[in-house]
Amino acid sequence: MNSRLDSIDAVVDAHLCTGCGVCAYLRPDALRMTDVDGVGVRPLPIVGITSGVAGDALAACPGRALQHDEEALADAPFGGEWGPILDLYECWATDPEVRHRGSSGGVVSALAAHAVTSGAAVGALQVQARADAPLLNETRLNRTYADIVSAAGSRYSPANPCERLDLVESAEGPSVVVGKPCDIAATRAAAQRRPELAEKVGLTIGIFCAGTPSTAGTADLVRGLGIDPTEVERLDYRGEGWPGEFRLRTRSGETRSLSYAESWGSLTKRRQWRCMICPDHTGEFADLSVGDPWYRRTEGQDGRSLVVVRTERGRAALLRALADGAVEGGPLPLEKLPASQPSLETTRGALWGRLLTLRLARVGTPRYRGLPTFRLWLKLGLSEKFSSFAGTVRRIKVRGLRRPEFMREER
Ligand SMILES: Cc1cc2nc3c(=O)[nH]c(=O)nc-3n(C[C@H](O)[C@H](O)[C@H](O)COP(=O)(O)OP(=O)(O)OC[C@H]3O[C@@H](n4cnc5c(N)ncnc54)[C@H](O)[C@@H]3O)c2cc1C
Repeated sequence: MNSRLDSIDAVVDAHLCTGCGVCAYLRPDALRMTDVDGVGVRPLPIVGITSGVAGDALAACPGRALQHDEEALADAPFGGEWGPILDLYECWATDPEVRHRGSSGGVVSALAAHAVTSGAAVGALQVQARADAPLLNETRLNRTYADIVSAAGSRYSPANPCERLDLVESAEGPSVVVGKPCDIAATRAAAQRRPELAEKVGLTIGIFCAGTPSTAGTADLVRGLGIDPTEVERLDYRGEGWPGEFRLRTRSGETRSLSYAESWGSLTKRRQWRCMICPDHTGEFADLSVGDPWYRRTEGQDGRSLVVVRTERGRAALLRALADGAVEGGPLPLEKLPASQPSLETTRGALWGRLLTLRLARVGTPRYRGLPTFRLWLKLGLSEKFSSFAGTVRRIKVRGLRRPEFMREER
């Protein structure tokens, strides 16, 4: 196996693809995103054209590399361990229906909708459940309040919004791009290489992300509830309360639900490998990034979202939305960010040991610059330090990281 990561195929083979789809956007003649069963959404060569895609598609690939500009991190708090941060807010959508439907406080939906209704953007690029196959996701450039807020809610399954950055590029004005940290890093990297896109990306909103489980993870959950996945008409992972439950409805009107803790506990075991060696779980490359203020107890409370202001463009968008009454809330001390996400902090610390082990074992390793991990590793307990090495050695074997992630039919 080629561990030099010198083509999109090599990144995929090395289990490092995030599934964002940016390579397929930059090379639509060569690649198409496909949901590979039990794996995730992956760029597959279009029949007749084989492999070897590199150039801009490879340079923009967040699976292969992530890098902060030095100036973005110059005054970053926490030694840059949570990325660039100008301010931290806790907010919620003013529209009570959006707040209720949203994963946490409906803030991503409210901010995206406000950008469009205020005329700052013409649309919002968003992921949502496919109407005809609700276990799968699709990407749309939503242009109305109703359509934007109908995409509220987290999809804990593969989603590849960057494949449709063409919709942003060809729109008549700027758009909001919503995505996971890898999607946003890819959008930014693509925009740096393609001015036509840069001109049209008006605002990026990243959601915090602990990792993407495969579609098979969701299908197993559905079967576990005694339902055939092909019978599902609607499926939500969260929302309608904070954090809300995993809920489904079948075509014949049967309903089932599972607590957030149980569903995530099961899905988390089906996360793709690249997510386990990701330093960016909080949308460090976005203008604004949004997650759960888990420092609070959620039971019985209306949803709230934690909003990290990462750029001046993000700050201006948030302050406009607050002034216009689209969202409510206020600033928080920065310490509430690590206090809200202790497990993401531990994961980032473990990363130092995991990456070192991969390098020593000569297994495909992404290149990260300006995403420090060592100080967080030092804060880990002895057994956590040890398992950052030993666990990685075990995973190299169990996950078969020396073999291609899956076999392509075209080969
Ligand atoms: C796989 C995954 C893992 C997550 N892990 C964490 C975590 O560890 N900690 C944490 O605090 N938060 C996590 N979140 C984020 C959290 O679930 C909420 O999305 C976030 O708090 C924003 O809530 P909101 O109510 O403001 O957003 P909403 O108003 O509900 O809007 C959510 C937006 O996210 C978009 N979206 C949903 N799923 C996806 C997806 N898979 N890919 C791209 N875009 C998507 C939707 O299109 C929508 O625009 C995760 C989300 C996902 C999808």
